[in-house]
Amino acid sequence: MKISVIGTGYVGLVSGACLAERGHQVTCVDIRPEVVLEINAGRPPIHEVGLENLLRSARDKGLLSATTDAKPAILDSDVTLICVGTPTVDGRMDVSQIVAAAEEVGAALANKRGYHVVAVKSTVLPGTTEGPVKAAIESHCGRRVGDGWGLCMNPEFLREGRAVEDFRVPDRIVVGATDPITAEVFLRVYAGFTCPKLITTPRTAEMIKYVSNSLLATMISFSNEIGNICSAVPGVDARSVWKGVHLDRRLTPINGQVGGPAGVTEYLWHGLGFGGSCFPKDVAALRSFGRTVGEQTRMLDAVLDINADQPLRMVALLEKELSLAGKNVAVLGLAFKPGTDDLRESPALPLVAELRRKGAKVLVHDPIAMPHAKRRTEFRDVVFAENWADALRKSDACCLVTAWPEYREIQPADFSRLMARSLVIDGRGVFEPAAMVEAGVVWRGVGYTPES
Ligand code: NAD
Repeated sequence: MKISVIGTGYVGLVSGACLAERGHQVTCVDIRPEVVLEINAGRPPIHEVGLENLLRSARDKGLLSATTDAKPAILDSDVTLICVGTPTVDGRMDVSQIVAAAEEVGAALANKRGYHVVAVKSTVLPGTTEGPVKAAIESHCGRRVGDGWGLCMNPEFLREGRAVEDFRVPDRIVVGATDPITAEVFLRVYAGFTCPKLITTPRTAEMIKYVSNSLLATMISFSNEIGNICSAVPGVDARSVWKGVHLDRRLTPINGQVGGPAGVTEYLWHGLGFGGSCFPKDVAALRSFGRTVGEQTRMLDAVLDINADQPLRMVALLEKELSLAGKNVAVLGLAFKPGTDDLRESPALPLVAELRRKGAKVLVHDPIAMPHAKRRTEFRDVVFAENWADALRKSDACCLVTAWPEYREIQPADFSRLMARSLVIDGRGVFEPAAMVEAGVVWRGVGYTPES
């Protein structure tokens, strides 16, 4: 098929590259010329494992190109995927990007011959596809939906950091279509994908995405509340608690792959809370949507409240051990999770701000996200270290924020050898407390307080 993709961020570019890999002819459209240039040069503007190879191979086979010019790209395609951002502004979903994209699609479809399917892949609240998106397309193309074009909602479930793998082998494909012909035509995009395919209405498809993200976010905030209780009981180790809980077969997937620290899922595991461009904004948007339809959102309120507090627990743990004014604090990891360069809503942001506010000198390191961090005002006053050892050298304390594999390799003796005072606050439950204590490291973490 010929596919145009509007918006080439994490979702648009990964979808485009993976669909080109399947033999579709893909044209990516973005309003940022610098992003288009990078894509056409075979350099992904975002970090995702496997994306560069995929992009280069698709480009070299002539199956993927990028442009800032939406109209010809849409006219020369059978299907358009809308993958632009849907941020929350003051806790409410902002539809301005999606409406602008829908208007461009509508304007192009005014001159289109042959059936065309428009699919919303962006995460949008129930009613958006059949409301503002449909209205924007109809008013700009002068034809009602069903008259030469069809509309559907196809939520995307990929995770940053594993986006290519998730798109290639999805758990499910959900298509919320306004009519059966549109669903049938659109499913040709996913010909050859063997996962379950669920056909539903656009509103239900929209809701499925919010419920999926909100459930995972709820699991994380639940885990953090439990981790905080464990911290308050010396000798109870939240890491073992999760391992014990996951031995329940109701929580263990049949294939045994749960995708987190050994034997557990990463969503039922204490830490610094969730971040990134999706969970915080989607839970906030569902909460405000719930209120607009007259429902209380006590659970979602708690999920967001717990998440906002969690990064600051690291500062409280630090302050029990030393006064922060004038001290050197190393922060390992800036990305909101391993595998991505995305800093949006990362727990590192409030943590670094609070450390600076308390007068600490902050040294940061991240294997991938530092170029992005250097451009952000939040990191104006910090020192960027070349590697983790440089960050630790002469530091009075270390905060482990992102569980990058290379940080898991740091040995307890490295902390005692490099640091002025080996105090480690383990925000992700990565290090073994007993081994740290044996090496003379003062280890503190969310989820566990050693017995005195
Ligand atoms: P992003 O911010 O990384 O990318 C959006 C892109 O759209 C940008 O490159 C922007 O320049 C471009 N854009 C905006 N308006 C445009 C227009 N009119 N024409 C062409 N390009 C335009 O966003 P993302 O992370 O890829 O997310 C996109 C959507 O997918 C959001 O609704 C998000 O909630 C959802 N989603 C994201 C993820 C994820 O992990 N990032 C996963 C699933 C779903």
